[in-house]
Amino acid sequence: MPPLISNSTISTPSSSSGNSIFKRFKRDVYPTVDLPYENNIDHYFMGLALQQAQYAWDKGEVPIGAIIVRECTNDDGSIQSTNSTTTRRTFQILSAAHNKVETNIDASSHAELLALRNGAQNIGNWRYPPNSRLYTTLEPCPMCLASIQAFRIDNIIYGAPDNRLGAIKTHMNLISVAKHPYHEVKSVIGGVREEECGDIIVRFFRERRELKKKEKKKMMDVVVKGEDRRRDLLKLPLEKRIKRSSRFISFVKKVLRRE
Ligand SMILES: [Zn+2]
Repeated sequence: MPPLISNSTISTPSSSSGNSIFKRFKRDVYPTVDLPYENNIDHYFMGLALQQAQYAWDKGEVPIGAIIVRECTNDDGSIQSTNSTTTRRTFQILSAAHNKVETNIDASSHAELLALRNGAQNIGNWRYPPNSRLYTTLEPCPMCLASIQAFRIDNIIYGAPDNRLGAIKTHMNLISVAKHPYHEVKSVIGGVREEECGDIIVRFFRERRELKKKEKKKMMDVVVKGEDRRRDLLKLPLEKRIKRSSRFISFVKKVLRRE
């Protein structure tokens, strides 16, 4: 399949780490991205959100990522283009974040909420400018959806549906049921790079299950080994038994500390 971003100066981001856009972002300079009109804009920005999801995985967090961008407009509200033939669109990246629930010991540290908070600090305003778009790899939960509306984000684009908590359509449809009194989300698009966004979570939990299995097996081996040694010990004189027992206890402690 040909790459959807044909601009030679922009590479389609993969889910691996290391991207110059975010290095520049850390220096508090909002990076801008010029994309050709014909390109799939959502595909490109969801790639950046996927990159954030990978950062979460690297820290042992459930891999969910979010970014917020705004399309640059002229004073009259018309879309800004980088040249007179209006063949390109300019976007500014306002925020990027990934899930940090475990790191922050905070159930509200979802990728979307952190991206919203960080971005508001960056732009110095909790009301996001018109044309702001929030990209998230997973369908927002009720908490994040309410926050997206409170921060006045106009457009939501998500990757995979969330069967357990999806508040847009999968688990519940809060956008139409509980409308925000002052702010209406202008558009919602789901299923952008759905397979990749869902797959990264499936692979994460598979790996975690395998690690847990290995951990359990390791513990069982220690128990079996302990039982064998106990039987051997009983055959020895009391003095030798005490000596060996203390050595074995140190061994078990060492294993439990995963040294
Ligand atoms: Zn959430």
